[in-house]
Amino acid sequence: MAQLQIQNLHVEFGGLRAVDNLDLTVEEGEILCLLGPNGAGKSTTLDLICGKTQPTGGSIRFQGTELSGLLEYERARCGIGRKFQVPSVYKELTVAENLSVAQSRHPGMWRALFTFGRGDTATQRRVLERVGLAEKAGVKAGNLSHGETQWLEIAMLLTQDSQLILMDEPTAGMTIQETEKTADLFRQLRGSHTLIIVEHDMSFVRRVADRIVVMNRGAKLAEGSVEEIENNAAVKTAYLGH
Ligand code: ADP
Ligand code: MG
Repeated sequence: MAQLQIQNLHVEFGGLRAVDNLDLTVEEGEILCLLGPNGAGKSTTLDLICGKTQPTGGSIRFQGTELSGLLEYERARCGIGRKFQVPSVYKELTVAENLSVAQSRHPGMWRALFTFGRGDTATQRRVLERVGLAEKAGVKAGNLSHGETQWLEIAMLLTQDSQLILMDEPTAGMTIQETEKTADLFRQLRGSHTLIIVEHDMSFVRRVADRIVVMNRGAKLAEGSVEEIENNAAVKTAYLGH
């Protein structure tokens, strides 16, 4: 069974079908890149999966459970984590303190309370190693570079046991070095986590994607490997706007 099964999903905003009869299947542990021209419905699709937006119709099943009707925090509890374009970290708190806040926010995280608000430090250390921020645990989040702030946000999702992580243009504004480190991080998360990434940088997509889905006008236009998508005539036309 696929981890995420979306069927006939649609949402309308004042007569405009931002997502239109979308079918999408995502396997556990894969990295799916979501591509498409501006306004194609990519961000809205992530909003629908995490529960920020309610659909007009259709079905989203995660690990066999129908998500419709579940609120955003309930989906987070199921293991769905969303990283937004503007990072939501506390600049005045240290990296470690930000992870404690993330842990205490997670409804199932009784451990955070048990350790008197300090959070589960063993988990924090493990997660910070994973995202390459082990040396920065005591640094205020406001003093991190742009890339480091993005990794902190991913670390916050990892401490909350998110299995499916949704990311909207995670490499936007990153330096080349930061982008490369992010690609390494994603490849390392592959297998243990499922990632759905909206991304425009094709060289990044080539490095990380197991599979690509291209959206246009709210619907799925094409799906396949990087090579298949790069040679797809309909995709080329959609991007050129013919
Ligand atoms: P993408 O992320 O692919 O660029 P979006 O999902 O942001 O596209 O938007 C898809 C369409 O839905 C666009 O035409 C956008 O203007 C419209 N849209 C998105 N969110 C809203 C909203 N909250 N209210 C009205 N229209 C919206
Ligand atoms: Mg968008």
